[in-house]
Amino acid sequence: MKFFIINSGSSSIKYQVIDMTTETVLAAGLVERIGEVYGRLKNTAFPGTRDEQESVIEQPIPDHRGGMQLVIATLTDKDNGVICNASEICAIGHRVVHGGEDFRGSMRITPTVIEALQRNIPLAPLHNPANLDGIRVAMEIFPQVPQVAVFDTAFHQTMPPRAYLYAIPYELYEQDRVRRYGFHGTSHRFVAGECARLLGKPLAECNLITIHLGNGCSMTAIENGCSIDTSLGMTPLEGLVMGTRSGDVDPALHLFLKQNKGMELEAIDALLNKESGLKGLCGMNDMRDIHEAAAEGDVRAQQAVEVQTYRNRKYIGAYMAVLGRVDGIVFTAGIGENDPIVRAESLEGLEAFGVRLDPERNGLRSKKARCISAPDSTVRVFVIPTNEELAIAREVAQVLRG
Ligand code: ADP
Repeated sequence: MKFFIINSGSSSIKYQVIDMTTETVLAAGLVERIGEVYGRLKNTAFPGTRDEQESVIEQPIPDHRGGMQLVIATLTDKDNGVICNASEICAIGHRVVHGGEDFRGSMRITPTVIEALQRNIPLAPLHNPANLDGIRVAMEIFPQVPQVAVFDTAFHQTMPPRAYLYAIPYELYEQDRVRRYGFHGTSHRFVAGECARLLGKPLAECNLITIHLGNGCSMTAIENGCSIDTSLGMTPLEGLVMGTRSGDVDPALHLFLKQNKGMELEAIDALLNKESGLKGLCGMNDMRDIHEAAAEGDVRAQQAVEVQTYRNRKYIGAYMAVLGRVDGIVFTAGIGENDPIVRAESLEGLEAFGVRLDPERNGLRSKKARCISAPDSTVRVFVIPTNEELAIAREVAQVLRG
């Protein structure tokens, strides 16, 4: 039962081959710089009985088709391939960024699904065309293999209108589908499921706040297992302070920058997406570098951590108010899983709301899912490593079971 999981970007293909009988990764890799002068494929094979083997190929990769063929040649390589031939792949899962309002769950890919993805291009003009490229190429190369689309937005389709509507003229929602959609849904759903297991009760009875802090950051309020509010909006720019994305700003900032700095809308968009967030505040976007600088007395680095963790705390407070009862708060992704300082500062002052960290448990380094709250904390706090590829593979299995 080998599944091929594909995350196709505009100039890259990230992939894994997972053996679903044991849920183990057989190979993982990345094709980069598709369409540039020098392309690159890096593959790591986990052959099980032998040590992991890394291989790198550098050559021009003209398009996604060429990239995918190189991946298959690598996976079937007679020395360190993990499959004998392409027919060993029994299902393919595609990560798709924007499903708009069309998809509340993962879908077996059919011409109708492809049509809907095309319809949603205006909502994700950079991501959806790249995802579609990956789907088309995979369907061409593996015509007999069932393929499933797993959407970043689908988990959040349970949000009620009071959470997803922006207070702007209603026609913009009716005619152009301007609303909050939310992203990182696969990750939020995965860690929520793992958290329910740790809490020892069905997900459908759990109220949770899941906090994904990586390069992109988002927080979700989960009531009885369903997303009822989330911090990312119509695009992945709203909400928390991210690596290079601003999160919430006054929408009138655009006009100010145009009138006072003569900036075009596209330049403002690039500024908010690529030059803001932690990077905008202190010039660095990797939290490890920021902590190092902060420890050496860099005031802007210290402030960047404060701005991010203060925003986290505000959202946690808002979601506690929205949920009423909270069983668990979950930290995940690069920062959430590895950074005890950000976790502690994000929860600072929430003792009155029943949130109490155990400093020793919070400080422990581990790759395992674990509880980090004090025994007397009414809200339990967890660190749960996310695994988006495995989450996608499980979704694929579920869709194919029907
Ligand atoms: P992405 O959103 O790209 O998937 P990740 O979830 O991999 O990102 O998170 C990447 C971020 O995690 C890095 O930018 C870095 O700031 C942070 N990170 C990784 N390891 C650590 C660590 N040990 N301590 C603090 N932050 C870390």
